Amino acid sequence: MPEPLTPGELLALDREHVWHPYGPMPGRTEPLLVESASGVRLRLAEPVEGRTELVDGMSSWWSAVHGYRHPVLDEAAHGQLDRMSHVMFGGLTHEPAVRLAKRLVDITPQPLRHVFLADSGSVSVEVAVKMCLQYWRSAGKPRKQRLLTWRGGYHGDTWQPMSVCDPDGGMHELWQGVLPRQIFADAPPPGFDAAPDPAYAAHLRELIARHAEELAAVIVEPVVQGAGGMRFHSPGYLRVLREACDAHGVLLVFDEIATGFGRTGTLFAAEHAGVAPDVMCVGKALTGGYLTLGATLCTTAVADGISRGALPVLAHGPTFMGNPLATAVAGAAIDLLLSQDWAREVARIETGLRTGLAAAERIPGVREVRVLGAIGVVQLDHEVDLAAATRAAVREGVWLRPFRDLLYTMPPYITSDEDVARICAAVCAAARAG
Ligand code: PMP
Repeated sequence: MPEPLTPGELLALDREHVWHPYGPMPGRTEPLLVESASGVRLRLAEPVEGRTELVDGMSSWWSAVHGYRHPVLDEAAHGQLDRMSHVMFGGLTHEPAVRLAKRLVDITPQPLRHVFLADSGSVSVEVAVKMCLQYWRSAGKPRKQRLLTWRGGYHGDTWQPMSVCDPDGGMHELWQGVLPRQIFADAPPPGFDAAPDPAYAAHLRELIARHAEELAAVIVEPVVQGAGGMRFHSPGYLRVLREACDAHGVLLVFDEIATGFGRTGTLFAAEHAGVAPDVMCVGKALTGGYLTLGATLCTTAVADGISRGALPVLAHGPTFMGNPLATAVAGAAIDLLLSQDWAREVARIETGLRTGLAAAERIPGVREVRVLGAIGVVQLDHEVDLAAATRAAVREGVWLRPFRDLLYTMPPYITSDEDVARICAAVCAAARAG
């Protein structure tokens, strides 16, 4: 066993050596040291603002939908660990991966039949893009290699996904000009319940028609644009995209990495529109937030198209593809979700968020409050003071991670009504402080 280190020593080493997401070096971030987590609670190694326990309002970046240390998921991980934690996927296969693929095909929109097991959300988007570009090459249309997306989106931190993130003021603005040049439609008009705007629908149709010759695919986050701004839009625009893509020979990709597995009130956000994509990406809640895993699903038409090409293989195969531990836990996490009335739990949280966040509307500096499924957003009219807002939430016993002008929560589905109310109180406290 290595020498035990005190919390102070660990944090000093962290500051000296460790990069954090979107963090500067050296050591200008001040992370909280988490010792363990259980249910919806994170346990800190030392008190911060008088708290050693925090309700996780973030589900570890929207993934831990069943909470931490769930006995069913722990059991799935331990059981698989006793058999094998990893084995290469080239030339070998195993039960957890096969069962997971079958489950995913069973629960995702109908024509999706084939599954690539990626090792993160971003990689699942890379694979989706590769599939689309290769499909058109195989069809003898190599000019079709650009993507169309809408502004305000976010699809990950690797190269192709970065190229379809919001180009103005988004996280990857620095790289515009170096990234592949994609085509951007305006962001969809806001409002999940708003009637689709005919002028905007025409804008989408016109862009797809105009660029059809060079467009491999349209890629969007259905219904919720997450890390690009936590905006909701009418599902009607997904139908517009489907029709226009079909009319002009363009593939349609839905990135359900944030919205998948119930977050918006339907199992997948595409269901709000009754529309199926040609390619779909999932991640985050796929393993209940336990392990890193993504998946890219495609139709038989896409898979057959690629297989007919001069290079009849999809040239992608990460070392940890189909990791047995991750796929075993993912299978258990999906079964767990489906074994419960998850839609009722998400609806219960939605009601709690609507009630609790209504108070934020009266706080000076709050521009808008919006709730959809287990997603609650408070948008300010100014940039959040991250340190002040985080501290204010911690004082209320809640973990939040605001960004830009946004305070938001995506709690685990097991969060009690009392804890939802507590999260809302913390969001309000953060809005007053930040
Ligand atoms: N797409 C969407 C919609 C996401 O929200 C995210 C993660 N925030 C990603 C892709 C990237 O996933 P990962 O962080 O697992 O690479």
